[in-house]
Amino acid sequence: MNAADALPSPTPRGSRKRVVLLGATGSIGQNALRVIASHADRLELVGVAAHSNWRGLAEIAREHGVRDAAVFDPGAFADARDSGSFPEGTRLLQGAAGLTELSTLPKADVVLVAVVGTAGLEPALAAIDAGKDLALASKEILVLAGKFIMEAARRRGTRILPIDSEHNAVFQCLEGHPGAGVRRIVLTASGGAFRDWPAEKLRHATPADALKHPNWSMGRKITVDCATLANKGLELIEAQWLFGLKPSQCTAVIHPQSLVHCLVEFNDGAMLAQLAPSSMVFPIQHALLYPDRAGGVEPPIDFTRLVRFDFSPVDMGRYPMMRLATESMTAGGVAPAVFNAANEVAVEAFLGGRIPFLAIPRIVGNALGRTSNFEPGSLADVLAADKEARRGAEADAVSFK
Ligand code: NDP
Ligand code: MG
Repeated sequence: MNAADALPSPTPRGSRKRVVLLGATGSIGQNALRVIASHADRLELVGVAAHSNWRGLAEIAREHGVRDAAVFDPGAFADARDSGSFPEGTRLLQGAAGLTELSTLPKADVVLVAVVGTAGLEPALAAIDAGKDLALASKEILVLAGKFIMEAARRRGTRILPIDSEHNAVFQCLEGHPGAGVRRIVLTASGGAFRDWPAEKLRHATPADALKHPNWSMGRKITVDCATLANKGLELIEAQWLFGLKPSQCTAVIHPQSLVHCLVEFNDGAMLAQLAPSSMVFPIQHALLYPDRAGGVEPPIDFTRLVRFDFSPVDMGRYPMMRLATESMTAGGVAPAVFNAANEVAVEAFLGGRIPFLAIPRIVGNALGRTSNFEPGSLADVLAADKEARRGAEADAVSFK
């Protein structure tokens, strides 16, 4: 199902939507909890999952009265089970199977996948198969397997509600407009932590520098992706799948204020933009309450004060990861999966102090250079390409020591 196609909500009006939240202890997870708590008359949290932060998860389960929880990491799961911290009667699940069980809970209406990286793929596919609405923050899984996720959603008639702010913005602009009338979409990028740095200084950039995002407060991996602009590259690929667009229709522009999240240009040249403060509570609320609207958790943009909107083209020389992402998107096949896998490895190595900042695009470029691209016939093909790319990128990262 194309994300822009409006389907009737499976939840009868007036009753509460029951939400499963994968990645509850993360940045998106915390914002989602604020939205759910602010709209307790419309939303109910029924399942939560995290990787290893079981203490945080137990606190969430207690606060929200959640009785189904999953911890991915086996050691953390054992600690959680023995801790007695979860409310009496909580069903505690483990590992990938636990996440998948949560995302198919019979009582759930919508599954919000906000797990960093690609671990959310299987649970997302299971949620689709079970006919749940999928509120999707984890862009990596669409980049890895967009073709198969969208096919499954189409087959099952499942609705995908984008949470990534730019895609949620496009979704809002497209409501009521058939995708055929769209000439192109323009996603905005803040330019990240190094937007105003002289290029020669970048070789000394540290993880602490890269984690100082000018506008958004987010998890570590995505914040580094913003500094390289890999994030915007991943988002272009994400948009291609979500909205059924050609690579040439997905473009980006630098907009330092992060107040306009997208521009949709129609065939007649008219453009629609979507505006909101740079806080994820706006797209999360839109996706969880869709198609309804309700009062916001935070105030809107205040036009009684001077508000500026600047836009400038992306300098591909300054942001080689954007060039590599665009080339991968245009090449198609397994190239986007290779781009994503090598980027995940390289960002982790950079955050671990194992490689310099400028090695990220080199590792990703090398991974793409080593790949003989092909059109994947199955999910297994993509997962094999992902694994191979990770292996190569790991070896490459070691050589930068
Ligand atoms: P964070 O690093 O803040 O949080 C990641 C969350 O995922 C944590 O709850 C973590 O648990 C959990 N997690 C990681 N691996 C697993 C696993 N294998 N099984 C279960 N849970 C797991 O990330 P963000 O919230 O920033 O990002 C989440 C996703 O949303 C990413 O894909 C990102 O690209 C996307 N996104 C984020 C935005 C943002 O504003 N933050 C904006 C748009 C998209 P634990 O705490 O135990 O480690
Ligand atoms: Mg985004």
